[in-house]
Amino acid sequence: MQVLGRVIEWTLLAVLWLTLPLSPVALAIIAGDSRYLREWFSTTRQMALSLRSMARASVIARRVGSYGKRTARENAAWQISGECSHCGNCCLDRSCVFLSYDGNGHSRCGIYGNWFFRRLTCGGYPITRDDIRIYDCPSFHASPRDSLHGGVPSSGAGLTGRVIPIVARSAVEQPARRS
Ligand code: SF4
Ligand code: SF4
Repeated sequence: MQVLGRVIEWTLLAVLWLTLPLSPVALAIIAGDSRYLREWFSTTRQMALSLRSMARASVIARRVGSYGKRTARENAAWQISGECSHCGNCCLDRSCVFLSYDGNGHSRCGIYGNWFFRRLTCGGYPITRDDIRIYDCPSFHASPRDSLHGGVPSSGAGLTGRVIPIVARSAVEQPARRS
């Protein structure tokens, strides 16, 4: 599964890099926001940063790997707990092209809840111990289930308790993009 994940990742990233100049068109369609077209240069530049972060964090390969039984077993050994503080780290190290910040410095997602967002794993973050480690999440923690009182937690501790409460971008925005 690991090799397959790497192959799929390299292939997809290669396609995304090759089509980078056209990415504003796709992003405008995905977000339903023509700003990505109007700001063609900065959008392309931000998309390049997103792709670089995707590669660094092995986003695609880890997603493919998560379907493997071994990974599932390893992940099941850890209990994730905490509450999101909207720092934005897990949004590709704050480089996601859809990320922005509100006036209080809280992360916002430009496509939150739409058809494309629902195909991503963002809403369930952090799913694994690695998710927390890779993005240096300051608010969630992973504990070995064996060390928890009562062992395996109740079914109430499902993904819904950890979904990032990201809010959709509103009319009043703060610039999200980093140089
Ligand atoms: S889940 Fe963690 S890394 Fe992601 S925005 Fe919340 S606090 Fe930051
Ligand atoms: S939650 Fe939104 S802003 Fe964050 S990584 Fe996912 S798509 Fe990007």
